[in-house]
Amino acid sequence: MGDSLSVWFLASEVAPFAKTGGLADVAGALPACLKNLGVDVRVGLPFYRMVKDGKFQTQKVLEGLEVPLGNTTLKGDVLETTTEGGLPVYLFDREDLFDRPALYGTPEGDYPDNLERFSYFSRAALLFAKKAGFRFDVVHCHDWQTGLIPAYLRTLYKAVPFLSDVASVFTIHNLGYQGLFPADKLATCGVPASEFHPGGLEFWGKISLLKAGLLYADAITTVSPKYSQEIQTPEFGFGMDDILRKRSANLYGILNGADYCAWDPATDRYITPHYSLGDIKNKARCKAGLVNELDLDQDLADRPIIAMISRLAAQKGCDLLVDVIEDVLRLDVGLVILGAGEERYQTLLVEFGEKYPGSIAVKIGFDEPLAHRIMAGADMLLLPSRYEPCGLTQMYALKYGTVPVVRATGGLDDTIVPFNPETGEGNGFKFSPYESVAFLGVIRQAVDLFLNSQVWKRLMVNGMKADFSWEESARKYILLYEKVRKGRQK
Ligand code: ADP
Repeated sequence: MGDSLSVWFLASEVAPFAKTGGLADVAGALPACLKNLGVDVRVGLPFYRMVKDGKFQTQKVLEGLEVPLGNTTLKGDVLETTTEGGLPVYLFDREDLFDRPALYGTPEGDYPDNLERFSYFSRAALLFAKKAGFRFDVVHCHDWQTGLIPAYLRTLYKAVPFLSDVASVFTIHNLGYQGLFPADKLATCGVPASEFHPGGLEFWGKISLLKAGLLYADAITTVSPKYSQEIQTPEFGFGMDDILRKRSANLYGILNGADYCAWDPATDRYITPHYSLGDIKNKARCKAGLVNELDLDQDLADRPIIAMISRLAAQKGCDLLVDVIEDVLRLDVGLVILGAGEERYQTLLVEFGEKYPGSIAVKIGFDEPLAHRIMAGADMLLLPSRYEPCGLTQMYALKYGTVPVVRATGGLDDTIVPFNPETGEGNGFKFSPYESVAFLGVIRQAVDLFLNSQVWKRLMVNGMKADFSWEESARKYILLYEKVRKGRQK
């Protein structure tokens, strides 16, 4: 590594403070790993009610930070907390914007003032760093919520000494969420009107905060090599494929890692007993615990328990799940589903749970401890995603000896190798066409193989041996940070 590198890491969710999905896991684990590799990294996120309720030890470091928003200037406080690993985390407090039951909205829809909320956060983060004298070389932003930051640096703040030479990296965790807002809100977000055109942050007559990130960042990354290719095609590009192709020289696919501090059956704080490669038999006790906890039939001890832990969204393949669920039950298995999201899937799945008590357990909601107990107690994990930028749960599942059954897309395709019973190689099951028959077909294969306990054990062991820890990927980010910093210093 060259000169010391400082990075301002800004995300709309960061584990363990606030989480709705994989972004939080990444924003919790990657900075910690960067710090261990010698990077001066600080993390920033909004001070949501969820963070408040977490009762983290915080201290106020700045009162009344002035943040312009449209015609007004809002004042907000900044709090600091430190992670167990000693990483400084800054929380941007503004009760009217962030003290709400959810992060982005309710099952009925997004909060109508999300543009105001995330413009505020984005601008406050830059202004705070300037005011606090935190000089940073690179700002690393994630998804549409922080897409305005690269735009601010290259427009509003391009002549501001402290900020003008800061380089930006923008990571796409999911291209499907674009941060679209009516054009008349342009003044609110503060980007000059001259930037609102099809070659700028306009997207079919609307403001797209995602597009702002894609256009103005020095480098774009996405969370798996395969997804970095897929998003450059109309099929996966959500209308942004043209821009992504134009920016392909600055687009990188860096696979997410798994945070084994949080996700390791040998140390997991939410499961008993612990187990690992050396004493794999304890996994059966975790399974028995899960059967009891969820009131499943006791004879499932010898039959496979198939789980899904997921946001309930079309992206995650919920249609396929709903389609095959009764056929899967006929294979004499147990099904455990933990998820929250779209109302239609929640309702359908709850109905299945009520129709087949003892065989299907459906838990609606976001429940971190239960997610861990399911990961430990289940035999297989389903990920039939339509598209999947990286996917973290399949990596966690491998470590827990829970065999992933995935669709061959994005990061799922990069991380799962179909098991070959002849050679004993591979770590899961994979299907390609987004079709129920194909999905059911691999589930059937998996259930058949489960009955051969010796071969199944081999498959579990293959997965448990795999190492998807963050270090290798974090080193790739460091190289990229150095590259964009150099580019700005020219
Ligand atoms: P995405 O970010 O698209 O939701 P990822 O696989 O990248 O998908 O990350 C999902 C993360 O959210 C994992 O840590 C998973 O365990 C967690 N998760 C998803 N749904 C739930 C839920 N209902 N309860 C608890 N954890 C969940």
